[in-house]
Amino acid sequence: MKAASKPSTASERNAVELLSCEKVYPNGTRALMPVDLTIQEGEFVTLLGPSGCGKSTLLKMVAGLTEPSDGRLLLWNKAHHRLHESHRSLSFVFQEASLLPWHSVRKNVSLPLELEGLSRKDIYARVDQVLELVGLTRFASALPRELSGGMQMRVSIARGLVVKPNLLLMDEPFGALDEITRFKLDGDLLDLWQKNGLSVLFVTHSIHEAVFLSERIIVMAARPGRVVADIRIDEPFPRHSEFRMSTRFSEYAMQLHEHLVAAASTEDGYE
Ligand code: ADP
Ligand code: MG
Repeated sequence: MKAASKPSTASERNAVELLSCEKVYPNGTRALMPVDLTIQEGEFVTLLGPSGCGKSTLLKMVAGLTEPSDGRLLLWNKAHHRLHESHRSLSFVFQEASLLPWHSVRKNVSLPLELEGLSRKDIYARVDQVLELVGLTRFASALPRELSGGMQMRVSIARGLVVKPNLLLMDEPFGALDEITRFKLDGDLLDLWQKNGLSVLFVTHSIHEAVFLSERIIVMAARPGRVVADIRIDEPFPRHSEFRMSTRFSEYAMQLHEHLVAAASTEDGYE
């Protein structure tokens, strides 16, 4: 008889855990008050808040690009330096596509794999696969300057996905794009998320983008940076543009707006 596999406990399904994580930068700036936050495997969670509330700082802590000045941060129950033991990985997609202008789309996307030392054949197979996922197969040989802003962002997302991350960290990735392109990429991102079983931690200051994309929204406030609400968007996937026009969408947007206004009114000692 086949042995029963060990049931996974709730904590084994935690992709990210921040336990009283706070951040004071070396110059004395307090970017984040202590934050407690758990993100489960497969969840789509968004950090929403005004400029300066510590969204990028929180994301960079999760990415291991900056250390919490106090508290504990776990990824799949491991400290950052032991992440490899969990056989999980993460990728970071920044607001700027930051592509190498002298390299083709294919070469830009293959760079993270070249660092991993895979064979040329394996690299090209993986790169072709992700270019298809983001709809850029026809542009594999193009240079970045030959692409629109939205297409450059797709290249950047492909470069994030090519290492098959379990967790995708995205810092205002569509912030510099026009609204129509942004709507399209929002929809495409949800498709990618659903098809690939990723966990996504997404940053935006757009209420509407947060409502459209997220299963959960962490609302943040500034001065000092802190979490003020954790809101579940109880709307099934796939989500279509009709959702953006629905009463439920407006109600969620209103609720978030009220949280942001209430938090802003307690800033700078106006309590
Ligand atoms: P957000 O992404 O929400 O706009 P940030 O995380 O970038 O917020 O910044 C939070 C606060 O920390 C801001 O007051 C910002 O000026 C400050 N800050 C960010 N990075 C640094 C740094 N490297 N050194 C000092 N202060 C910083
Ligand atoms: Mg930021």
